[in-house]
Amino acid sequence: MNKRLYSPKYVKEIIDKYEFGFSKSLGQNFLIDGNVLNNIIKMGEITKEDLILEIGPGIGTLTEELALNSKKVVAVEIDKNLLPILDETLKAYDNIEIVHGDILKIDIEKLILEKLDGGPIKVVANLPYYITTPIIGKLLEENLNIQSIIVMIQKEVAHRIVAKPNTKDYGALSIFINFYTDPEIILKVPKTVFMPQPKVDSAVVKLNLKEELPNIDRELFFKVVKSAFGKRRKTILNSLSTGELGLEKEIIKNVLEEANIPPNFRAENLKIEDFIKISETLPPLNIY
Ligand code: SAM
Repeated sequence: MNKRLYSPKYVKEIIDKYEFGFSKSLGQNFLIDGNVLNNIIKMGEITKEDLILEIGPGIGTLTEELALNSKKVVAVEIDKNLLPILDETLKAYDNIEIVHGDILKIDIEKLILEKLDGGPIKVVANLPYYITTPIIGKLLEENLNIQSIIVMIQKEVAHRIVAKPNTKDYGALSIFINFYTDPEIILKVPKTVFMPQPKVDSAVVKLNLKEELPNIDRELFFKVVKSAFGKRRKTILNSLSTGELGLEKEIIKNVLEEANIPPNFRAENLKIEDFIKISETLPPLNIY
């Protein structure tokens, strides 16, 4: 068994050998803790049958653990300076394929078809904080053959994702994620397990994708949610009639009545089902 990559001493050695400079703008904070890596595998329920897409392998610490515990890993890395490092650190594994590219620009459907047997796949990533939501958004909106998404993100964002109604963290992000998935926080991760150390603590979230989604006009649904939380201190009657929906108060009043939602409720009092009811009851947007 070769020595494992996550040892801080080895990470430092390899960084020095390649004179690698950490890029803050690419969110490069590398994991250097074996326990956290083990827990991601265990709590993320990664098994030997799994086909994995990893986003941002860095120098390969998480990639190595994934390769040891799954069938195949395809890892997409944007930073070309990491490619020679990954060539060296992961050379012992024949079930890893590194793809150079930006996950936000790559055709993920094609990648799953060509390199991961068409899926279903599990996505695993220690995500750069600055693009956490666009990446999760892309993975969920593109109707891909994904079973679960296991991502390390900023602790505060994790709390917003799993937040329940009537709490301060509950908002448009909670609704967006809960529309597509059943999310859970599976691990809390202190900032001390990264090199270099970031300013904030992290958490690993597991998003279990729902097999069936409500058959509704999604564009309208998310417009309603955005409009409601855009003015979260206002009553739902006021936020929906002054927000980007721009509908008359009288129409909103009737819609709320029909959906059985008190007009003096605020966005944070509404469950996802309430937002679904509202968008189902609203007339289609294009008739205005
Ligand atoms: N997985 C490694 C670990 O846990 O130690 C590295 C995680 S580091 C927080 C984020 C990684 O994502 C970096 O290697 C960075 O270069 C890469 N990255 C940043 N933006 C990316 C993008 N748009 N597409 C692919 N990789 C990206």
